[in-house]
Amino acid sequence: MKVPGASGSLSEARARESDVQIAYGVDDAVKIASSSDKEIVFMAVGFETTIPSIAMAIKRIHESPEGEKTHNFSILCCHRIVPPALKTLIELGEVRLHGLIEPVHVSTIIGAAPYEFLSEKYHVPQVIAGFEPLDLLMGIYMLARQVKAGEAKVEIEYVRSVRYEGNPKAIQVIDEVFEPYDIKWRGFPVIPESGLRLRKEFKEYDARSLYANELKEIQDMEFSEPAGCKCGEVLRGLISSDECPLFGTACTPEHPVGPCMVSAEGSCNILLKYGGKSL
Ligand code: SF4
Repeated sequence: MKVPGASGSLSEARARESDVQIAYGVDDAVKIASSSDKEIVFMAVGFETTIPSIAMAIKRIHESPEGEKTHNFSILCCHRIVPPALKTLIELGEVRLHGLIEPVHVSTIIGAAPYEFLSEKYHVPQVIAGFEPLDLLMGIYMLARQVKAGEAKVEIEYVRSVRYEGNPKAIQVIDEVFEPYDIKWRGFPVIPESGLRLRKEFKEYDARSLYANELKEIQDMEFSEPAGCKCGEVLRGLISSDECPLFGTACTPEHPVGPCMVSAEGSCNILLKYGGKSL
């Protein structure tokens, strides 16, 4: 809601009397659609963690009998997938990575296999670790052990939920409903096959095709970072959040300038909340 876009945030749009509602999941949005005469567009954001539930909702609507079908529901698909971004991060060569701690939410879905090419091709040790402090310490220890032994492989520290093969049903439904395509990320160049869009069988739920005329104006726009914002450098690990001139002054959780300050999981937000200074 608070992420600043080309013409303000969704919160601001709501303040201007646009009908913007918060749904805690895609099923809530489908419920809103089934009890409304309006066209409901769900903004589908997130990585592999959230994608299966959205794929499942689309599949369920698509397969429901004609009389029970929700016809006024579509998604604005903004999903991204993690492994291609890691590949680009390594290939940019801007930071000398000793190893990667991979995200456990995402890995619970995709498993360990999709990261293996990074260790094989670039010799980068990887450990899937989180969420507790002890998990992260263990993850760092496991990485250090690989570095010391001159190894590069993918290990799973978070065995409580991550399996090597991930969640095959979730992987299958993602693959059934979505297809990868090349897309630009904030602070990165275009990353091949890192975005997801609906497959052509599901085009009737794709807000980008349904509202192509309305979206035409912004479709080809180039979006630059807000003046002074260093999110790109922060995201690529080149600087610490407090090296951004706007950190804690023009950019705060109440008035975020960039996405790293918006979310409670954003690095700028965390650093400001828990100290405000790099150690
Ligand atoms: S402090 Fe704000 S403007 Fe600076 S990098 Fe972080 S989010 Fe972007």
